[in-house]
Amino acid sequence: MASKKQFKAESKRLLDLMINSIYTHKEIFLRELISNASDAIDKLYYKALSENLSDVNREDFKVYLEVNKDARTLTIRDNGLGMNKEELEENLGTIAKSGSLAFKKELEEKEKKEEADDIIGQFGVGFYSAFMVAKKVEVVSKKYGEETAYIWTSDAIDGYTIEETSKDSCGTEITLYLKDNGDEENYDEYLQQYEIERLVHKYSDYIRYPIQMMVEEQRRIENEDAKEDEEPKYETVKELKTLNSMVPLWKRSKSEITKEEYNEFYKNKFNDYTDPQKVIHTSVEGAVSFTTLLYIPSKTPFNYYSQDYKKGLQLYSRGVFIMDNAEELLPEHFRFVKGLVDSQDLSLNISREMLQHDRQLKVIANRIEKKIKSELLLMLKNDREEYEKFWNNFGVQIKFGIYNEFGAHKELLQDLLLFYSSKERKLVTLDEYVNRMEEGQKDIYFVSGDKVEMMDELPIVKKVKDKGYEILYLTDNVDEFVLQTLMNYKEKNFKNISQGDLDLDSEEEKKEKEKKAEENKDLLKDLKEALGEQVKEVKISSRLVDDPVCLSSDEGMSFEMEKVLSAMPE
Ligand code: ADP
Ligand code: MG
Repeated sequence: MASKKQFKAESKRLLDLMINSIYTHKEIFLRELISNASDAIDKLYYKALSENLSDVNREDFKVYLEVNKDARTLTIRDNGLGMNKEELEENLGTIAKSGSLAFKKELEEKEKKEEADDIIGQFGVGFYSAFMVAKKVEVVSKKYGEETAYIWTSDAIDGYTIEETSKDSCGTEITLYLKDNGDEENYDEYLQQYEIERLVHKYSDYIRYPIQMMVEEQRRIENEDAKEDEEPKYETVKELKTLNSMVPLWKRSKSEITKEEYNEFYKNKFNDYTDPQKVIHTSVEGAVSFTTLLYIPSKTPFNYYSQDYKKGLQLYSRGVFIMDNAEELLPEHFRFVKGLVDSQDLSLNISREMLQHDRQLKVIANRIEKKIKSELLLMLKNDREEYEKFWNNFGVQIKFGIYNEFGAHKELLQDLLLFYSSKERKLVTLDEYVNRMEEGQKDIYFVSGDKVEMMDELPIVKKVKDKGYEILYLTDNVDEFVLQTLMNYKEKNFKNISQGDLDLDSEEEKKEKEKKAEENKDLLKDLKEALGEQVKEVKISSRLVDDPVCLSSDEGMSFEMEKVLSAMPE
């Protein structure tokens, strides 16, 4: 008898939640277990293809469901890669996986139980969701290429055990002992053939391997001699039935896919619990043919700015899963995009190292980048409110994209930028600014500061506004770097109004200024002497409207940039 092991503390908490869940859509447990089975088959299939294994055949792959009404068990069996002892321990004893981890994070923010229940379903929390309906779970698994099989058993509460067992072929078999606390909480429905068929159809239809079950069906007995008015006779036959259509979502025609289906697929596959903001589904035929299904999340992922966040798309070749997070498919500036690519032109044996040099893949990545950009531009044009939501979530990424790699991507990205306008009192694009520039206005004016209200009060802002010009208010640290990288937009230079000479004055005003400077020569000299090295120069200025003095920086680095740079770690 193997000794009992306890779950890691954080897993324990998640399990408690699962056991006590009042969530009404507990049915999602089946989707989670089937998706794990399918993942495990994917892994073995990929291994077989890349290592030329002769004892693995695509046609043999399946997920098999079995009900035992007397024992009140439901079994999900797959002939995928399987797990060895260490993997059972590691994968089922700890929250290590993306989905559960995101869930846990979310939980910490929303301490309330009802809300937790609410997100379980939308999210799926993987394997542990089995404990919403089962009082005990057994996992028998044998890893491909290994001799020994193991059985992992747990009732969640007392931890788990792992022991040796026997199993003929590789793969995993998960048996759920359904709860039976009288009428209050029993899950008899999951022992019913029709309910299981319904669930598979609803959640797992697109799984690419057959999900099979023995079913009982009424079949009419053909009787040639029967008289016309005789009642038809039926018999009950048992047969093996494939419950899913096996067509991957992205292979179906766009017009037949509902928004709901797109969203469900996204949430399941990419571990989000909110619907995506945008779905981009396209097929390209040509020198390189491929289909992509891309999503822009509607929230910044909780780990977006941490090392855990993995950029990249899932890669498939002819519907065969190759790898997760293929980085080369997405440029850094669109790293927030999730999704997948399926191409018939990629070799199944492609490895991560090879991706970097693959010509076909470069072509695909290029098309994807262009497509994302054009979709964003469309959103900007047709639905400003949506675009601003996007900008709030991921605008910073676009800005970094501009000044990264010495501005290599500025042409691509510049039209996606938004800045706050002194005139419009909202976010505007550079194109909008340039299109309404005043007659005779040479430059695009901007000023930096922490807050819009503060910038409104700057003397020089008042002055420029008085002249009727629009000013871009830069509130983000990176903004000034962005403009500096761009250098110009549609041949208009960017001009920081708090720096250097703006040349706003008419000839008359210039003469007036010279005259004043001459008259106050001594005063200016005294002031400079009094301030000493703290200032470079004291001048009569035309920058001021209502205020007596202002600090102004010379051409070169602005105050704001100096501030940012000095705040950076060495
Ligand atoms: P996720 O699927 O997001 O990784 P799960 O909680 O659903 O998280 O599963 C945890 C891990 O357990 C999986 O990543 C996988 O390594 C392993 N696992 C679960 N079910 C199976 C299975 N049927 N065959 C092989 N491994 C499995
Ligand atoms: Mg899973």
